[in-house]
Amino acid sequence: MGARRAIFLDRDGVINENRSDYVKSLAEFVFLPGALEALQRLAKLDMSIVVISNQSAINRGLVTRAVVDAITQAMRERIEAAGGRVDAVFYCPHRPDEGCTCRKPQPGLFHQAALQLGIQLVGSYVIGDALSDVQAALRVGAQPIMVLTGRGREQVTLLDGSLRSSTPVFDDLLAAARWVWQRENGRWEP
Ligand SMILES: [Mg+2]
Ligand SMILES: [Zn+2]
Repeated sequence: MGARRAIFLDRDGVINENRSDYVKSLAEFVFLPGALEALQRLAKLDMSIVVISNQSAINRGLVTRAVVDAITQAMRERIEAAGGRVDAVFYCPHRPDEGCTCRKPQPGLFHQAALQLGIQLVGSYVIGDALSDVQAALRVGAQPIMVLTGRGREQVTLLDGSLRSSTPVFDDLLAAARWVWQRENGRWEP
Protein backbone atom coordinates (compact mmCIF):
# COMPACT_ATOMS: atom_id res chain seq x y z
CA MET A 1 0.00 0.00 0.00
CA GLY A 2 1.39 3.33 -1.05
CA ALA A 3 5.11 2.96 -0.91
CA ARG A 4 5.70 6.29 -2.57
CA ARG A 5 6.43 9.22 -0.32
CA ALA A 6 5.48 12.81 -1.07
CA ILE A 7 6.68 16.34 -0.77
CA PHE A 8 3.69 18.28 0.51
CA LEU A 9 3.79 21.99 -0.10
CA ASP A 10 1.75 24.71 1.41
CA ARG A 11 0.82 27.27 -1.25
CA ASP A 12 0.59 30.85 0.02
CA GLY A 13 3.88 32.03 1.49
CA VAL A 14 5.77 29.03 0.10
CA ILE A 15 5.12 28.93 -3.66
CA ASN A 16 3.58 32.37 -4.06
CA GLU A 17 3.48 35.57 -2.04
CA ASN A 18 1.22 35.43 0.98
CA ARG A 19 -1.42 38.16 1.23
CA SER A 20 -3.00 39.08 4.55
CA ASP A 21 -6.19 39.81 2.58
CA TYR A 22 -6.02 36.42 0.76
CA VAL A 23 -5.22 35.58 -2.83
CA LYS A 24 -8.54 36.37 -4.50
CA SER A 25 -7.65 36.51 -8.19
CA LEU A 26 -5.09 35.33 -10.68
CA ALA A 27 -3.52 38.80 -10.60
CA GLU A 28 -2.88 38.38 -6.89
CA PHE A 29 -1.04 35.10 -7.39
CA VAL A 30 2.65 36.03 -7.61
CA PHE A 31 5.37 33.37 -7.57
CA LEU A 32 8.10 33.86 -4.96
CA PRO A 33 11.68 34.17 -6.21
CA GLY A 34 13.25 30.73 -6.70
CA ALA A 35 9.99 28.83 -6.27
CA LEU A 36 9.79 27.67 -9.88
CA GLU A 37 13.40 26.52 -9.82
CA ALA A 38 12.77 24.68 -6.56
CA LEU A 39 9.78 22.87 -8.08
CA GLN A 40 11.78 21.97 -11.17
CA ARG A 41 14.43 20.42 -8.91
CA LEU A 42 11.95 18.56 -6.72
CA ALA A 43 10.23 17.16 -9.80
CA LYS A 44 13.29 15.01 -10.43
CA LEU A 45 12.90 13.14 -7.16
CA ASP A 46 10.86 9.95 -7.21
CA MET A 47 8.26 11.41 -4.90
CA SER A 48 4.76 12.77 -5.35
CA ILE A 49 4.45 16.55 -5.19
CA VAL A 50 1.21 17.62 -3.56
CA VAL A 51 -0.05 21.08 -2.64
CA ILE A 52 -2.24 21.26 0.47
CA SER A 53 -3.65 24.68 1.23
CA ASN A 54 -6.08 26.32 3.63
CA GLN A 55 -8.31 28.56 1.49
CA SER A 56 -10.82 29.90 3.98
CA ALA A 57 -11.35 32.87 1.65
CA ILE A 58 -13.84 30.57 -0.14
CA ASN A 59 -16.21 30.15 2.79
CA ARG A 60 -15.58 33.71 3.90
CA GLY A 61 -17.22 34.61 0.59
CA LEU A 62 -14.15 36.43 -0.71
CA VAL A 63 -13.40 34.14 -3.63
CA THR A 64 -15.34 31.47 -5.50
CA ARG A 65 -14.25 27.87 -5.94
CA ALA A 66 -14.19 28.52 -9.67
CA VAL A 67 -11.61 31.27 -9.23
CA VAL A 68 -9.54 29.12 -6.87
CA ASP A 69 -9.63 26.32 -9.44
CA ALA A 70 -8.56 28.74 -12.18
CA ILE A 71 -5.66 29.91 -10.01
CA THR A 72 -4.70 26.28 -9.38
CA GLN A 73 -4.73 25.50 -13.08
CA ALA A 74 -2.66 28.57 -13.98
CA MET A 75 -0.19 27.75 -11.21
CA ARG A 76 0.23 24.20 -12.47
CA GLU A 77 0.72 25.38 -16.05
CA ARG A 78 3.43 27.83 -15.03
CA ILE A 79 5.15 25.17 -12.93
CA GLU A 80 5.02 22.65 -15.77
CA ALA A 81 6.33 25.22 -18.25
CA ALA A 82 9.30 25.68 -15.92
CA GLY A 83 10.00 21.92 -15.88
CA GLY A 84 8.26 21.14 -12.62
CA ARG A 85 5.13 19.24 -11.74
CA VAL A 86 2.37 19.19 -9.19
CA ASP A 87 0.72 15.80 -8.93
CA ALA A 88 -2.31 16.95 -6.97
CA VAL A 89 -3.75 19.96 -5.21
CA PHE A 90 -6.06 19.79 -2.19
CA TYR A 91 -7.56 22.76 -0.43
CA CYS A 92 -9.75 23.31 2.59
CA PRO A 93 -12.50 25.88 1.92
CA HIS A 94 -13.67 26.16 5.52
CA ARG A 95 -13.43 29.01 7.99
CA PRO A 96 -11.71 28.26 11.32
CA ASP A 97 -15.05 28.49 13.17
CA GLU A 98 -16.53 25.65 11.09
CA GLY A 99 -14.44 23.10 12.95
CA CYS A 100 -13.72 20.93 9.92
CA THR A 101 -11.22 18.08 9.89
CA CYS A 102 -9.34 19.30 6.82
CA ARG A 103 -8.07 22.75 7.78
CA LYS A 104 -4.42 22.51 8.80
CA PRO A 105 -3.25 21.77 11.50
CA GLN A 106 -5.92 19.08 11.10
CA PRO A 107 -4.53 16.21 9.03
CA GLY A 108 -7.63 15.45 6.93
CA LEU A 109 -6.28 16.47 3.56
CA PHE A 110 -3.04 14.57 4.13
CA HIS A 111 -5.01 11.39 4.79
CA GLN A 112 -7.17 12.06 1.74
CA ALA A 113 -4.07 12.53 -0.41
CA ALA A 114 -2.51 9.37 1.00
CA LEU A 115 -5.63 7.38 0.18
CA GLN A 116 -6.20 8.80 -3.31
CA LEU A 117 -2.59 8.82 -4.45
CA GLY A 118 -1.18 5.87 -2.52
CA ILE A 119 1.24 7.98 -0.51
CA GLN A 120 3.19 6.83 2.51
CA LEU A 121 2.97 9.73 4.93
CA VAL A 122 5.78 8.58 7.20
CA GLY A 123 8.99 9.82 5.63
CA SER A 124 7.18 12.38 3.50
CA TYR A 125 8.04 16.07 3.80
CA VAL A 126 5.77 19.02 4.54
CA ILE A 127 7.10 22.44 3.58
CA GLY A 128 5.20 25.38 5.01
CA ASP A 129 5.47 28.92 6.34
CA ALA A 130 3.20 28.47 9.36
CA LEU A 131 3.01 26.68 12.68
CA SER A 132 -0.13 24.90 11.44
CA ASP A 133 1.90 23.30 8.62
CA VAL A 134 4.47 22.02 11.11
CA GLN A 135 1.76 20.67 13.42
CA ALA A 136 -0.02 18.90 10.56
CA ALA A 137 3.25 17.34 9.44
CA LEU A 138 3.97 15.95 12.88
CA ARG A 139 0.43 14.59 13.25
CA VAL A 140 0.89 12.41 10.17
CA GLY A 141 4.45 11.37 10.92
CA ALA A 142 5.99 13.48 8.16
CA GLN A 143 9.11 15.63 8.33
CA PRO A 144 8.18 19.29 8.76
CA ILE A 145 10.24 22.01 7.07
CA MET A 146 9.65 25.68 7.59
CA VAL A 147 10.46 28.51 5.20
CA LEU A 148 10.89 32.13 6.21
CA THR A 149 9.00 33.53 3.23
CA GLY A 150 5.35 34.50 3.62
CA ARG A 151 4.37 34.38 7.30
CA GLY A 152 7.48 32.38 8.16
CA ARG A 153 9.46 35.03 10.03
CA GLU A 154 6.56 35.70 12.38
CA GLN A 155 5.38 32.09 12.61
CA VAL A 156 8.78 30.59 13.35
CA THR A 157 8.75 32.41 16.68
CA LEU A 158 5.70 30.32 17.66
CA LEU A 159 7.61 27.04 17.53
CA ASP A 160 8.40 25.86 21.04
CA GLY A 161 11.67 24.11 21.82
CA SER A 162 10.66 20.61 20.77
CA LEU A 163 8.92 21.76 17.57
CA ARG A 164 11.89 23.96 16.73
CA SER A 165 14.34 21.11 17.15
CA SER A 166 12.35 18.81 14.84
CA THR A 167 11.86 21.48 12.18
CA PRO A 168 14.65 22.65 9.90
CA VAL A 169 14.14 26.27 8.86
CA PHE A 170 15.24 27.73 5.52
CA ASP A 171 15.12 31.13 3.86
CA ASP A 172 12.88 29.98 1.04
CA LEU A 173 11.57 27.04 -0.97
CA LEU A 174 14.73 26.78 -3.04
CA ALA A 175 16.89 26.37 0.06
CA ALA A 176 14.42 23.85 1.48
CA ALA A 177 14.42 21.94 -1.81
CA ARG A 178 18.18 21.79 -1.73
CA TRP A 179 18.08 20.21 1.74
CA VAL A 180 15.46 17.65 0.69
CA TRP A 181 17.41 16.88 -2.45
CA GLN A 182 20.61 16.31 -0.49
CA ARG A 183 18.86 14.03 1.98
CA GLU A 184 17.31 12.02 -0.82
CA ASN A 185 19.99 12.06 -3.45
CA GLY A 186 23.17 13.36 -1.93
CA ARG A 187 24.14 15.78 -4.66
CA TRP A 188 22.71 19.00 -5.97
CA GLU A 189 24.10 19.54 -9.42
CA PRO A 190 23.78 22.85 -11.23
MG1 LIG B 1 1.11 29.54 4.02
ZN1 LIG C 1 -11.78 22.16 5.95
